[in-house]
Amino acid sequence: MTQPVSLFIGGDFCQSDSSEWIEVTNPANNQIIAQLPCATAEEMERAIDSAHDAFASWKEVAVSERARLMLRYQQLLKEHHDELAWLVSKETGKTTVDAKGDVWRGIEVVEQAANIASNMMGETVENVATDIDSYSLIQPLGVCCGITPFNFPAMIPLWMFPLAIAAGNTFVLKPSEQVPLTAMRLAELFEQAGAPKGVLQVVHGSKAQVDYLLAHPIIKAVSFVGSVPVAKHIYHTGTAYNKRVQAFAGAKNHMVVMPDANKAQVINNLVGASVGAAGQRCMAISVAVFVGESNTWLGDLAQELAKVKPGAWDDQSAGYGPLISKEAKARVLALIEQGKAQGAKCELDGSHCEVADHPDGNWVGPTLFSGVTPQMSIYQQEIFGPVLVCLEVDTLDQAIELINNNPYGNGTSLFTSSGGAARKFQHQIQVGQVGINVPIPVPLPFFSFTGWRGSFYGDLHAYGKQAVRFYTETKTVTARWFDDDIPTGPNMSIQLR
Ligand code: NAD
Repeated sequence: MTQPVSLFIGGDFCQSDSSEWIEVTNPANNQIIAQLPCATAEEMERAIDSAHDAFASWKEVAVSERARLMLRYQQLLKEHHDELAWLVSKETGKTTVDAKGDVWRGIEVVEQAANIASNMMGETVENVATDIDSYSLIQPLGVCCGITPFNFPAMIPLWMFPLAIAAGNTFVLKPSEQVPLTAMRLAELFEQAGAPKGVLQVVHGSKAQVDYLLAHPIIKAVSFVGSVPVAKHIYHTGTAYNKRVQAFAGAKNHMVVMPDANKAQVINNLVGASVGAAGQRCMAISVAVFVGESNTWLGDLAQELAKVKPGAWDDQSAGYGPLISKEAKARVLALIEQGKAQGAKCELDGSHCEVADHPDGNWVGPTLFSGVTPQMSIYQQEIFGPVLVCLEVDTLDQAIELINNNPYGNGTSLFTSSGGAARKFQHQIQVGQVGINVPIPVPLPFFSFTGWRGSFYGDLHAYGKQAVRFYTETKTVTARWFDDDIPTGPNMSIQLR
């Protein structure tokens, strides 16, 4: 049997006793690369207990010590950048350059986690009443958990556990069952960096294991990234159990093209942002909205898209890799057929894509639709494949209205040379991450990842100051130190004096 993936519980990489296993495959050839256990209830309990025990001592560790752990960790991640990227490629099929980007954007969050002390500063007001001071303390919550998707096996786990742990919490990570190998290597390096036993656990499985975490009274906060139906389930169930929940969901990201934009920049950026990573990015541009005469650029866009070839991760000429699974490919192909049946014009059809040497991979070629309307399935659903759909409007106002009527609000972008148009767009658009001549505006980690509306369930977002708030509680102290000569006697009022 292929190598079984370990669990990481209480500082030990241990084999599971599960009778339920999932095959992990390489999407470029669908060969089985690992066997993944679905953790048993006893293993889930042990992981949560171990995190709970570790919390008692970890929360007392000086914040500068916790920050130093992150400094050592980011150094190790940098030293192992290529190796981690290779693992990402192996289990997702991402090209080397894309896999390196996945790892790097995670390392950037760890760098910020090393800056934890300044993000945990409370506030102080002296003399809120005579000789009375008030100050706030920022304290960790306890055991937090993270449930992650397949499409960023390094970056998204690194959005979660380093910051939560730097803030003094302990953590249970449940990575995607489709890409567990990178997460295990991240855990090994974390241990190598000096993380005490039990501070991080990694458990595996799917719905049953997630539901176990959601219902467990010891788990205080849940970070989730994945599809819309699961995000809704996580948010409603987690909050019903009185947990803090942040659930990042799917998206339909529009790029608006103004006629005054730089045409070459528009086409290059649309190509990379739509079919890069096979369109399997939550911030991929999946809709182009051409305003006025910019629609005459469609033909040139189709020509440039047709030049992009998918291929295996080690093929330097490949523009992107395969879809994650046969099921994902079948879903994308079905949506392409629906687009044609519903009357959109398929300018470029990637349905029958083959890659030499990898006949069994989950390949879909670049696909472009024009003449799309908001009623069509290819506009309404997140396709999560290398498919770009194009709509045409007359004015910027109409483009803004279209986007604001779409249920999602993860990312959007405007290409223009007009400052006035840019300002109007950034002000009026109901989307949480806006790019001005930037196609995929994923914020760096001193900001937060701020998806809105149907792309996010919760209040506080991932990484940055908001994540520190998410993983901590604020305690406000009001303190007086008595002088002997202060007159005593009962104070019958709520007023401080
Ligand atoms: P998914 O929802 O299928 O899986 C995500 C996680 O949820 C996995 O760990 C999985 O084991 C678990 N899960 C699956 N079904 C479950 C269920 N019924 N109950 C409880 N847990 C369950 O998502 P995916 O296919 O791995 O990832 C792709 C999706 O993630 C896309 O929709 C994409 O837009 C979204 N995504 C969003 C962001 C963002 O920041 N908004 C970032 C990356 C990916």
